[in-house]
Amino acid sequence: MEKDCLFCKISHGQMGTDFLLENDNLVVFRDINPHAPVHLLIVPKRHIRSINDLTESDNQILAEMIMTARQMAQKEKINASGYKLLFNVEKGGGQVIFHLHLHLIGGWNK
Ligand code: AMP
Ligand code: ZN
Repeated sequence: MEKDCLFCKISHGQMGTDFLLENDNLVVFRDINPHAPVHLLIVPKRHIRSINDLTESDNQILAEMIMTARQMAQKEKINASGYKLLFNVEKGGGQVIFHLHLHLIGGWNK
């Protein structure tokens, strides 16, 4: 856990954030500034800065993040209408929180 990382604090339950899902590896919560009717963040508990910092040993958490997004899309009933999965990578890619997270965005016409 990184001392000054907001998503480390959130994922370890230190900010009182409501989780839609939590397990040993990751948490899911609603984006505080949603860009769509459904905007969730899938966040691993382990601190990884961005996609750039992934190694072979992270294959499992990456797969779990994507399969969790798939499951949450079903739960939020946006799987049939469709959705976007987005990783912003570093400043030029729009990343502002430097702790890996997957955006699940949709629900425009569900
Ligand atoms: P990114 O631009 O990919 O780094 O996305 C970071 C996202 O985190 C933005 O969409 C923010 O709205 C969201 N965010 C920042 N602080 C919080 C918070 N305390 N709770 C929920 N979402 C947050
Ligand atoms: Zn972190």
